[in-house]
Amino acid sequence: MEIKLKSIMGKDKTAIVGKLNVSVGDTIETGHVILQLETKKGNSPLKSEISGTVEEILISEGQTVEIGQTLICVKSESGGAATPKLDYFAGMINGKKEDINTDILIIGGGPGGYVAAIHAAKNGRKVVLAERKAMGGTCLNEGCIPTKAIVKSAELFEHIKNADEFGLEVKDARADMSKIIDRKNSIKDTLVSGIEYLMNKNEIRVIKGSASFVDERTVSVKSGRDEYTVEAENIIIATGSTSSTLKIPGIDNEFVMNSTKALDCRDNMDCVTIIGGGVIGMEFAFIYSNLGMKVNVVEYFDRVLTMVDSDVSEEICKIAKQRGIGIHTGSKVTRIGREENGKAVVFFEKDGTERFITSDKVLVATGREPDVQGLELENTGAAANENGRGIAVDSGMRTSVKHIYAIGDVNSRMQLAHVASHEGMVAVDNILGKDAHMDYTAVPNVIFTSPEIANVGLTEDVALREGLNISVSKFPFGANGKALTMGESEGFVKLIKDLDTGGIIGGAIIGPEASALISTLTMMINSRISEEEIIHTVFAHPTTGESIHEAVLGLGKGAFHYHE
Ligand SMILES: Cc1cc2nc3c(=O)[nH]c(=O)nc-3n(C[C@H](O)[C@H](O)[C@H](O)COP(=O)(O)OP(=O)(O)OC[C@H]3O[C@@H](n4cnc5c(N)ncnc54)[C@H](O)[C@@H]3O)c2cc1C
Repeated sequence: MEIKLKSIMGKDKTAIVGKLNVSVGDTIETGHVILQLETKKGNSPLKSEISGTVEEILISEGQTVEIGQTLICVKSESGGAATPKLDYFAGMINGKKEDINTDILIIGGGPGGYVAAIHAAKNGRKVVLAERKAMGGTCLNEGCIPTKAIVKSAELFEHIKNADEFGLEVKDARADMSKIIDRKNSIKDTLVSGIEYLMNKNEIRVIKGSASFVDERTVSVKSGRDEYTVEAENIIIATGSTSSTLKIPGIDNEFVMNSTKALDCRDNMDCVTIIGGGVIGMEFAFIYSNLGMKVNVVEYFDRVLTMVDSDVSEEICKIAKQRGIGIHTGSKVTRIGREENGKAVVFFEKDGTERFITSDKVLVATGREPDVQGLELENTGAAANENGRGIAVDSGMRTSVKHIYAIGDVNSRMQLAHVASHEGMVAVDNILGKDAHMDYTAVPNVIFTSPEIANVGLTEDVALREGLNISVSKFPFGANGKALTMGESEGFVKLIKDLDTGGIIGGAIIGPEASALISTLTMMINSRISEEEIIHTVFAHPTTGESIHEAVLGLGKGAFHYHE
């Protein structure tokens, strides 16, 4: 029987054969990934729809193949056309059982887990990774990437609405939430299959299922009736986090969403209330506002985005209000009701009085909890953090059990994808016998509002709280030529210098391209480059990057293109 190429991801008619996973004589079962296909849209696995023995392989790695082409000939054990094997059905009824020995078991396939897996495999270790949902974790499936895909649609729509400012006439622009979600899903799928491909290429065995500890070296991974018992010399826990919720009346109403639900909400809404003015809440506030909805943010603390400096928070609040986003700080949400017409009503207390806001939907964005559910950590003795949130680790990512490591959101140090990945590298380096430590001094953090916000190193507030002797320089984007050409002159670049050491210890950017510019500040702080060296670095013109140069000049004799 022949295995033919029936379809290719995207609209391509041809693809390149990536890694070939079978050889002549191999026994394959239905669902077996026989090869990876490389297309313009990304990589995707090709699974067998039949079982039997591989008789002939008609293609080779690197070859271009087209739809309809025969790839592999398979012979059933009876000699006739290949059919599902009897023991395969037996496996389906009784469940498959397998004992596996490996150097490293990684639990969780998010940016922490999959990067750790690749790093370990590239260094010659035998790696097994257990993942109960899709590869890529929160980041690819319901976090970083999906939000940014929707941010782009929303920003584009906002630009189109303001096209006349650029001398352009655009009529009848309309946002279609369903199509926006489709686009997001297609980007997500491409990236997820790319990670699956990388696992395959690096010979990392991925087991789909939920992992739980049997003892400190043994983990059981269950998927339906199948059970795998994995014994590993070292184990890395990378199980991430889940949305936390509020224990208030009305939270179970169907119009209440967490970020995961919101990312799949295809309704074209008029108004949304967001509970929580943190990173996720504020990103969604600008998404919905840019898409033309009325947005209100209700925040418990006295300002939104408490992790950035107060002047940055004030700036984004000012911009949000100019765009019609309602910001209600110092407000405690007490309950969520429903109007007769089905609309949501969020009740909150502010300054001792009860107030309310009506909307189509409510988004709860009140933070995320480390996910240790079902892990049965008590069978290992690994200790929790003192506040009970997440697994305690040292700077080498070791838990209280020497050969068990915990990386990413589950250790609750910094809930960022790039931190999870880097912690994964540190954990693996220690398994490889190095003495690696995680350094959080220069970790960039980006908030994808409009305009974007990014910061790295110490904030001014923290530096002052720590009693440091500092000076601060700010350069406004209003004085940057490129920002003006982009029609995005709001915001500033801010630098913090330690006057005792002379080093730049922190920086924040609110304005155009902040997410890209922050890498320059990160390199500056991480490499401890001197002020003088930056001043004598040539920055291209006209670019938003010149604002960094100007802000550095502002730490000394003053910027060239700005005078307070
Ligand atoms: C809406 C939103 C937007 C975000 N935007 C950004 C951003 O722009 N930039 C940024 O840096 N960060 C962002 N984040 C945070 C980022 O997604 C996380 O910090 C990152 O995904 C953490 O990576 P991780 O590997 O620790 O865990 P995760 O990505 O959460 O992956 C953990 C994986 O473990 C699996 N798992 C859990 N328990 C088990 C088990 N028992 N057995 C098997 N598998 C298990 C889960 O299914 C999951 O796939 C965002 C988050 C959200 C929710």
